[in-house]
Amino acid sequence: MSFQNLNLDPILLRGVEACGFAEPSEIQRQAIPHALAGRDLMASAQTGTGKTAAFVLPALQRLLKPGASGSHGPRVLILTPTRELAGQITDGIRQLGKFTRLRFGSVVGGEAYPPQQRLLRAPLDILVATPGRLIDHMNSGRVDYSRLELLVLDEADRMLDMGFLEDVERIAAATPAGRQTLLFSATLEGNIQRVA
Ligand code: AMP
Repeated sequence: MSFQNLNLDPILLRGVEACGFAEPSEIQRQAIPHALAGRDLMASAQTGTGKTAAFVLPALQRLLKPGASGSHGPRVLILTPTRELAGQITDGIRQLGKFTRLRFGSVVGGEAYPPQQRLLRAPLDILVATPGRLIDHMNSGRVDYSRLELLVLDEADRMLDMGFLEDVERIAAATPAGRQTLLFSATLEGNIQRVA
């Protein structure tokens, strides 16, 4: 199977080509069609399997269509447990979305607040965040979820292990009920079932 068979927009296929990906990985082959069809998804995938592109490509494809007008909060929110992973995800968005004009940024712990506050005030398509820092911004009333369409939970099992369950639940509850949700986890056993 090639990336051409996945019904991705040509502008994204150019991004895939620029990344040097010859063919989709197993998780990409399995997850991308469901994600593009708008379904909720739980997927078991370890780091190194190509899971980032498995959710970034459907997210980018969704954003190529215009969103709701009237507000400018993020349309896609990607939650991930660590600052390092958030950096890898924004790199993936930058590379795969190289030929799009989407606005994205991250809000993570261990970094200064003012640039993140500016990011949240400006029009934004994709927000990548670690749960604790995002909750801080929510507590200051700085996050506009009114046009959020897609929530991605990356490394959901690690977020649970790191004690982020309550934060993730609070964030999910603050987003519109009709949103699409994609959950990626190394394991789908145990507590992760409850979160799902
Ligand atoms: P991830 O599991 O998302 O952390 O991806 C692991 C590595 O695989 C990253 O360096 C990606 O750039 C790379 N990668 C992702 N998808 C593909 C693909 N279809 N073909 C080759 N490399 C890929």
